[in-house]
Amino acid sequence: MSLGTPETPLRVAIVGSGPSGFYAAEALFKSDYTVTVDMYEKLPVPFGLVRSGVAPDHPKIKNVTRIYDKIADNPGFQFLGNVTIGQDLSVESLRQHYHAVLFASGASSDRRLNIPGEDLDRSYTATEFVAWYNGHPEYKDRVFDLSRENAVIIGQGNVAVDVCRILSKSIDELKETDIADHALEALAESKIKNIYMIGRRGPAQAAFTPQEAKELGELELTEVVIDPADLELSAADEAELEMNPAKRKNVAMMRDLLAKSQAGEFANKPRKLHLMFFQSPVALEGENGSVEHVVLERNALSGEAGQQKARGTGETTTLDSGLFFRSVGYRGVPMAGVPFREDWGVFQNEGGRIETGMYTAGWIKRGPSGIIGTNKPCSYDTVKLLLEDLSLLHCEVPDTAPIKDQLASAGVRVVSYADWKKIDAAEVAAGEAKGKSRSKFTRIEDMLAVLS
Ligand code: NAP
Repeated sequence: MSLGTPETPLRVAIVGSGPSGFYAAEALFKSDYTVTVDMYEKLPVPFGLVRSGVAPDHPKIKNVTRIYDKIADNPGFQFLGNVTIGQDLSVESLRQHYHAVLFASGASSDRRLNIPGEDLDRSYTATEFVAWYNGHPEYKDRVFDLSRENAVIIGQGNVAVDVCRILSKSIDELKETDIADHALEALAESKIKNIYMIGRRGPAQAAFTPQEAKELGELELTEVVIDPADLELSAADEAELEMNPAKRKNVAMMRDLLAKSQAGEFANKPRKLHLMFFQSPVALEGENGSVEHVVLERNALSGEAGQQKARGTGETTTLDSGLFFRSVGYRGVPMAGVPFREDWGVFQNEGGRIETGMYTAGWIKRGPSGIIGTNKPCSYDTVKLLLEDLSLLHCEVPDTAPIKDQLASAGVRVVSYADWKKIDAAEVAAGEAKGKSRSKFTRIEDMLAVLS
């Protein structure tokens, strides 16, 4: 009997409910085949980094979930939230019950700098800070000591900019967003005056995007400070800008910020956000187990335009900072039963195919790059490979009843999409009462209590 027909639908399990998982479901539903999709998610709530990564002061970006709601409306779609693959259900079990398993589990860990002192107290990762202020249940109890005047953020990607913006903003600028209540309370007590966002290369190589840079000039309490000398570009930098309109715009944006600062437009703002370039941290120095100083080494760039690399010059300076964040990229985590590439932090795959019957999409396929929309073509490419394999796919137990029995007997409360909609409504209502767009539940028990 051929697979992908109304009599024998293609049964696919998707692991992860972030953008890449939903775009993979969409691609399957748009195919010429009859498909059922069961989407497994560790949390009782969907949307991955759209919920736990996108900054609370960027609500428009989160509107993309309306598209995911439409995908979830497909009669072949089921959401199975509150189920951890590798713990509540094995990968092997999924393989027995589905023709194909597609992993879209993202990158929940982060890259390290591998410098002395990195594990001192008050040395944090941007990934955990982002998950904390976004109310992710696994990070809600993290404590960030914001009682120091100087904070250093290493890295100049959009995540670093998000962290700097959240640390820079006034409570009035944040209080109506869906930021976690615990984060708003902690930020209200912040004593931070200087934020240093430090790049190992120059302004022409900064990884953030122009829109994110522009917002730095619109902060109520914070002046952006840039050393004019850093904006004097080399011939190789100029050649890079010729090739890359986004980077060209970034530099124009930074020149604009510098001009505004020099014209006194930011005068009297109590906080300073210093954009520093050509510096790498080489050590964190502490007292009583906590970071107090960051040792920075000056870099020089070498290499062809577009491929310039930072190399240490040996010249070091020490910056007093009792608060340190590394923001040098996310990293995928391994899952039992799936081959993992340690060097890249992704599942071993060829264009999205791990092996016949196992596929992957999104950050766990290609690494932590691109914006939400980048995941759409990535997931569509993977689904194309999956469908090319259709004649080779098989399934030992074409029925999910045994899986559901197994979860029920283990006491797992599986959360459906209709259940999520109830949690969603409760969060929005709780937010309204506080003058916020949403007040997120940060404890899994509280999410499940809405359903009981
Ligand atoms: P990213 O864009 O890759 O930036 C990583 C930064 O870390 C770069 O500045 C990189 O510098 C630096 N870095 C890496 N290793 C380093 C080291 N050993 N020492 C010093 N610096 C180091 O990563 P991200 O900020 O985590 O963002 C991930 C993705 O999410 C990006 O594609 C980003 O655009 C996207 N995102 C988008 C939004 C938005 O659209 N609003 C918001 C958040 C995130 P080099 O350039 O020198 O390597």
